[in-house]
Amino acid sequence: MQSNNKYYVLCGLAIGGCLLEYVFHFNNYVILMLMVLAFGFIWFLYDQKDLLMKEKENFELQEEIKSTAKDAHLKNKQLFTVVSSIPFPIVLLDQFGNIVMYNNNIEEISVLEKPKGPMNYTNNSFAPSVKEFMNDAFTLERHEDKIIKINNIEYQAIAVPVTAKQKYSGCLILFQNISKTLEGEKMQKRFIADASHELKTPIAVLKGMVEILNREDFDDDATREEFLKQMEKEIGRLDILVKDLLQLSRLSMSNPILERKKVDMREIVLKSCKSLEKQANAKLIAIVSDFQNDGFVFCDPLRMEQVMLNIIGNALKYSDRGTITISLYDEKTNFVIEVKDEGCGIRREDVDQIFERFYRVDDDRSRQSGGSGLGLPIVKSILDAHGASICVDSTPGVGSTFIIKLKN
Ligand code: ADP
Repeated sequence: MQSNNKYYVLCGLAIGGCLLEYVFHFNNYVILMLMVLAFGFIWFLYDQKDLLMKEKENFELQEEIKSTAKDAHLKNKQLFTVVSSIPFPIVLLDQFGNIVMYNNNIEEISVLEKPKGPMNYTNNSFAPSVKEFMNDAFTLERHEDKIIKINNIEYQAIAVPVTAKQKYSGCLILFQNISKTLEGEKMQKRFIADASHELKTPIAVLKGMVEILNREDFDDDATREEFLKQMEKEIGRLDILVKDLLQLSRLSMSNPILERKKVDMREIVLKSCKSLEKQANAKLIAIVSDFQNDGFVFCDPLRMEQVMLNIIGNALKYSDRGTITISLYDEKTNFVIEVKDEGCGIRREDVDQIFERFYRVDDDRSRQSGGSGLGLPIVKSILDAHGASICVDSTPGVGSTFIIKLKN
């Protein structure tokens, strides 16, 4: 367009020159000179304009390249931040098997500390199981999903092929530590086995008694009466066990629903003591309360009542004499509930295990008093859901103190 313009100007100058000669009869050389000068000047102006435009275009192009590079850098940084914040090892391989991106958790899947220098999936610092998995995923170019052991920890390894323009361009591999999940599954299985065992015992007793009572030649009234009493006891035990199992399973959900509100703990303690009054009187055990200040706490009142019933109920179950003292007081940022008894106490080696499901120090005593072995696990689950803690201070033959700390 611009060079075309120059030719138009040249034509214009020629026509102008002809007019000058024709109208003013100018000397031909003068006209030619004027034309050359004018054309040279115009040519120069156009060149300058072209130059300026080219410089402007160049500048714009450079700015565009800069902003694209900045964008790419930012996107790279964002991607790296995302990859780094993923809490398990993640590796991106390109089409040649080179590791083009990884996060710091890669150390978990390495035998040595952190692989140094440019890395390839065959890198020696990776654990052998990792190398094998990466090799399969890279060479087979397909989705792979496998549980592998790395440094004695179980991982779920997942590989996803990456394609660009329908061509294989590497794969994304991640390793998730699943030892906790597997441990949870194991515990679940153990719990089901233990629960079935606990249910089987009273059912077997009931079955045996019903079979004897149903015999045609059975006509012993005294034994029948004794059996019926025993059966009632076993049914009561089954009832408690099933209720406790249901409650524990509800509390074992990842987020048990709590109906928290500001409540006066003194009222909850007094209500629980009232419910257990009959049992305490039967054993001639006194329950004393020692409330040092107001007892307002933010908690689920029904669940906390369950906690107090279980703890005070245990204090009664495992005491044959003495006093049970319940103290409420503030300590720094905690609200503390203490239940102290003068009962049989718990041996040091048993203290850590009494919060485990179905753990009983004295099996006979616990069963005699209708214990399911789930009371303290229920207490622990409720307190965990409240973010509270529980600990025990106990001396065999002297007594036990259960200490609960709720955050104020
Ligand atoms: P259980 O239904 O058997 O009472 P828990 O889970 O409530 O089950 O308690 C677990 C075990 O902890 C009990 O079997 C008992 O041996 C022991 N225990 C709990 N509280 C006390 C206590 N106050 N004094 C002595 N032993 C206790």
